[in-house]
Amino acid sequence: MEMIILICFLGFLSLLGGFVYILLLNPRPQLMDRMVKRAMLKRHLEIDDGMHVFLAGTGAPLPDLHRAGPCTCVIVNHKIYMVDTGESSTRNMQIAGLKLGKIDTVLLTHFHSDHIGGLGETMLMRWATGNNSSPLQVLGPLGSKKVVEGFLSAYQFDKQYRIAHHGESLMIPEAYGAETIEFDLGADPMASALIYDKDDLKITAFNVNHAPVFPAVGYRFEYKGRSVVISGDTCLCDNLIQQANGVDLLVSEALNKKFAESIRRNANLSSAPTLSSIASDIQNYHLSPEDAALVASKAQVKNLTLTHILPPIPNKLMINAFLGRSKKIYTGKIDLGRDGLLISLPINSTEIKKKYLLG
Ligand SMILES: [Zn+2]
Ligand SMILES: [Zn+2]
Repeated sequence: MEMIILICFLGFLSLLGGFVYILLLNPRPQLMDRMVKRAMLKRHLEIDDGMHVFLAGTGAPLPDLHRAGPCTCVIVNHKIYMVDTGESSTRNMQIAGLKLGKIDTVLLTHFHSDHIGGLGETMLMRWATGNNSSPLQVLGPLGSKKVVEGFLSAYQFDKQYRIAHHGESLMIPEAYGAETIEFDLGADPMASALIYDKDDLKITAFNVNHAPVFPAVGYRFEYKGRSVVISGDTCLCDNLIQQANGVDLLVSEALNKKFAESIRRNANLSSAPTLSSIASDIQNYHLSPEDAALVASKAQVKNLTLTHILPPIPNKLMINAFLGRSKKIYTGKIDLGRDGLLISLPINSTEIKKKYLLG
């Protein structure tokens, strides 16, 4: 009797397996359409008036499976202002439902490769998917024009392919590329300048200290009473504290020196000959989580979100070790940023809402 039940059960399993196999290999058109429709609908992100911060990439140069290269988007008036263009950040934006055609401006903090690696893709995909009539605007410190020209040169063939394939009515030639506006803050460590003032949005660029990298800047965004500062890459510096004074949200980079030191000690086990020196050198020109907490505390910011997570955190059990003593230094809310986090600052409110848009 048991044998008959077993044979029936195995027969049922193989029938079910065969059905699933056929369905996966040859999905019916209706099923395929339903899945595509669901994906298309998911790709419409509706957000209210206010200032919104989307973490498109919270990684840094060391490879991290779960983090794209550094990119923080500020969304105001349905326009996207991208601070840096780390690799794969536009992919995260698209998956989250942000339309690349809505990118108004790219703001560069400095020219380390992790911060500019996705610039070519950002320019091309905004053009190819956005139906805009004018090129992207890029704002950045001296040197930005050269960086943009290099990416445009690398992407010139793809531009031609797409025009030839889809036609000029869809791939509008005049809208391709970028108009770059450079600003020069000089070498004064406390320098800052208003670089954007339009439709109630003000953006201030300010010098930070990422020596020997120069220029290097952070950005302060203000919109209808709400404010956000994005640190860029820097060590602890007074200008960051001054610019972050009283803001609703500080998005700060974070490098855990103990983790970096562990990489330096064990670098001989890797096949990368330069890793030991790099792990040592990077420790003195980045903010640690404790440094970021100190800035947040001194500047009395309302919320602190860490990004540019360096080195990668091996697993969730190590999050507290990564944050170190930061929660003792700053008593406000600290979030360890992750790709896909949307932080919303509604107008006429002091509220800060958070929502995860990936996955
Ligand atoms: Zn960096
Ligand atoms: Zn850097």
